Amino acid sequence: MAELNPEVVAEILKQQHSVINTGRTRSLEFRLQQLQALKKSVQQHEREIIHALHQDLRKPEFEAYSTEVGYFYDSIGYIIKNLHKWIKRERVRTPIVHFGSRSYVYSEPYGSALIIGPFNYPFMLVMDPLVGAIAAGNCAVIKPSEYTPYVSQIISKLIGECFDESYVRVIEGGQEANSVLLQAPFDIIFFTGSVRVGKIVMKAAAEHLTPVVLELGGKSPCIVDQEANLDLAAQRIVWGKYLNTGQTCVAPDYVLAHQAIRKKLIAKMKEYILAFYGTQPRFSPDYGRIVNLKHWDRLNGLLEGAVIAAGGQTDRDDLYIAPTLLDEVNWNDKVMEDEIFGPILPVLEYSDLQQVIDAVNSRPKPLALYLFTNDKQVEQRVMSTVSFGGGCVNDTIMHLVSPYLPFGGVGSSGMGAYHGRHSFDTFSHKKSVLNKSTRINPSFLFPPYNDKKLGLVKRFLK
Ligand code: NAD
Repeated sequence: MAELNPEVVAEILKQQHSVINTGRTRSLEFRLQQLQALKKSVQQHEREIIHALHQDLRKPEFEAYSTEVGYFYDSIGYIIKNLHKWIKRERVRTPIVHFGSRSYVYSEPYGSALIIGPFNYPFMLVMDPLVGAIAAGNCAVIKPSEYTPYVSQIISKLIGECFDESYVRVIEGGQEANSVLLQAPFDIIFFTGSVRVGKIVMKAAAEHLTPVVLELGGKSPCIVDQEANLDLAAQRIVWGKYLNTGQTCVAPDYVLAHQAIRKKLIAKMKEYILAFYGTQPRFSPDYGRIVNLKHWDRLNGLLEGAVIAAGGQTDRDDLYIAPTLLDEVNWNDKVMEDEIFGPILPVLEYSDLQQVIDAVNSRPKPLALYLFTNDKQVEQRVMSTVSFGGGCVNDTIMHLVSPYLPFGGVGSSGMGAYHGRHSFDTFSHKKSVLNKSTRINPSFLFPPYNDKKLGLVKRFLK
């Protein structure tokens, strides 16, 4: 491909708009064909994708399959099965004021979608939005993360084999590529990544008034109440935290443990770390690595002066950081400033639930929140007073694994949502049309106005 510059991107957009303008992407048949072709192409390259995930992040095959490739199959399968229902114009009610008329909502493609992905689930987090974009009848340009070059390459290869460049294409590269892409008037931008870059994306989009979906991150709390099943809590927290070596946007960032159970919870979490990864997690085939030195250095810095309750071993040459628990942490510690995004889990103690609610509510709204409790009142109190993107009661991460639950952030953890039908809706403009009766024509609407007409309007609009 020619060097990426604004002229090249303008040409790509021109080509994609001409495809959109043919109307070809609007038929159900076309969309289903493309989705089937995409699924088949992924199936054909499955081994290479899993291998690339291992090369970039040392992802265990189980995780590479379940959280990336298998997740993708499940998601695209659900959309293929249900698309025929969503694609139809939807008839909605019509108020009496339009007596004799009909009202419809048409879901139409925006046009050309720019999809920018992060490094942590580098396959799934560009391919899953792409499924939504195609299902909604759009063309797309995908920009995978440069931090995971092997995955980026295989995505580029399989998309190149599967689609014509004027329909869906991949642009590889980093920040510079994004800066050029973001100058162009795409019709929608779907960005997954950090809050910092999310702001850059939104500023650039404002220039063309391009709608944005921002799937961002932040510090997701995990509250463990004294009424929780501690064994289950420990198992599910340890799994959710150290999955993908803590590099998961919805990983529990920190634990807020009730003072009555803090020590016991830490002891149980240690047991599960041992049970999952053995005495030497660095030799466990089920434990990955930090993506690069920049992130390793940042994470290593968080261990300085910390009270380490488990783990803490590191190896810079191997990008290794052991599954680590920090105890006696308080809100002013460095580890509580920014999203951790690595295998370090601070545990804070609380005595009163209201303190926890106030503390979480005084910080940026989290992408996820997890609550472990068997007390319905505690559950009701947290759910009705704390704002967060989404989450679980008595589990971590798993709310993602449902096409019925919209997935997205709120406040600084993002805007917009996808998964299942929500993916289709997110990539569709909802065009409202009133199909007015030609038989009934209420003349009181038209000038010259008089008191009688005003009286009639007042009967309708009150
Ligand atoms: P990142 O923001 O550094 O990078 C994301 C993308 O932006 C990459 O493609 C990168 O090339 C590009 N980019 C980086 N700097 C840029 C710049 N200055 N201008 C334009 N583009 C730029 O994110 P990351 O480190 O890859 O991923 C980690 C972050 O993503 C975490 O904060 C995590 O919580 C978040 N995340 C969120 C979700 C979600 O679904 N909400 C999922 C995964 C990750």
